[in-house]
Amino acid sequence: MKVYIETYGCAAAQGDAAIMEGILLQRGYEIVGDTDKADVVVIVTCIVVDATQQRMISRIKKFNEMGKKIVVAECMASALPHVVKKIAPHAMLLPPRYIHHIVDVIEGKRDFIEKPKVLLPRKIGIRLNIPIAEGCLYNCSYCITKIARGKLLSFQMEGIVEDVKKAIEKGCKEIRLTTQDTASYGIDIGKSLPELINEIASIEGEFRIRVGMMHPSSAYRIFDELMEAYENEKVYKFLHLPLQSASPKILRAMRRGYSYEQFKEIVHAFRKKFSHSTFATDIIVAFPGESEQDFNETMEAIKELQPDITNVTRFSPRPYTEAAKLKKLPTQVAKQRSRITSEIALKISYERNKKLIGKTFQALFLEKRGEWTIGKTDGYKSVYAKNATIGEFAMVKITNAKLTHVEGIVE
Ligand code: SF4
Repeated sequence: MKVYIETYGCAAAQGDAAIMEGILLQRGYEIVGDTDKADVVVIVTCIVVDATQQRMISRIKKFNEMGKKIVVAECMASALPHVVKKIAPHAMLLPPRYIHHIVDVIEGKRDFIEKPKVLLPRKIGIRLNIPIAEGCLYNCSYCITKIARGKLLSFQMEGIVEDVKKAIEKGCKEIRLTTQDTASYGIDIGKSLPELINEIASIEGEFRIRVGMMHPSSAYRIFDELMEAYENEKVYKFLHLPLQSASPKILRAMRRGYSYEQFKEIVHAFRKKFSHSTFATDIIVAFPGESEQDFNETMEAIKELQPDITNVTRFSPRPYTEAAKLKKLPTQVAKQRSRITSEIALKISYERNKKLIGKTFQALFLEKRGEWTIGKTDGYKSVYAKNATIGEFAMVKITNAKLTHVEGIVE
């Protein structure tokens, strides 16, 4: 049987898609790149904001009109099953915790059991997203991911390490540890993220480990051991810590559970320890009740923290969340604040990139885009080079700066 997989969403969803593809191939299914040729269409859904939800709805409608057998997998299947059933009554639902049942759902079986996502077949490329847990410890007032993925469930460390070993043996060069909050990994099984990083870093071979997004409160709790684990040269000096807002009033309304002062402490300590590093953050603008003063507090924070990467999102009320009951700010205000935040963020990123010109760093090159080969330095800075080789580590001299990356020449 021929299966077409269309994947949306975060690194965790990408990691789950790699598992579903691995299982399908192992069970003799053929993966095709074109819906017309497919007997079954699998859509790996994301509903983090309304815009993506609308995209999912239009894709599912399209596949339904084509008369395809449809599997709706991941967050929409668990958080909004009724929305799916309304547009495609025969669609089969596969929530995040049951993706290992991909063949069963296609074959019409329904008795699913939950199972940690380890020691499962995966599609392995030069880069691999490895989900290390499911769900999280928090209850942010705007978040539908918590509704879709539930409470924290960490996967066994031995299984994760075994899967990474297999991936490295098959030529994978970049391991991305991913879940909603990597820093709370292991709390429920007596393990910790630093332990997991150390175990993976001790695997033979030349590869890099990218540690995914952390909730600031969880990162704060394990910070010292985490920074020790980051000292290993296999670990990218990359910290992804969503601030969302710097206003105490808005952080309370979001139920984020940390203060800007605590957040700042982590970032400054990380930067002090690793001079060549990348700090990424996320900002939600126009959260209900965000006054001009609250917004300016967040802009001042960005100027103070100088993030290398700032992901800006306009507040989007999500079904079944507390924040969805609150009065939305006018769209015009949201658009304006999003534009201002992106302008400030890109200016900062460009200024920081310019400071790297003339310097030389080790980088791992993983992707081709036109005449450029794209890599990541050990400080996780995106570097474009014309004379680099995919899959290779090389010393690269930075020759030019762009808004979101640098250019260089392999020496
Ligand atoms: S930490 Fe907050 S925003 Fe992140 S998945 Fe959990 S509830 Fe959602």
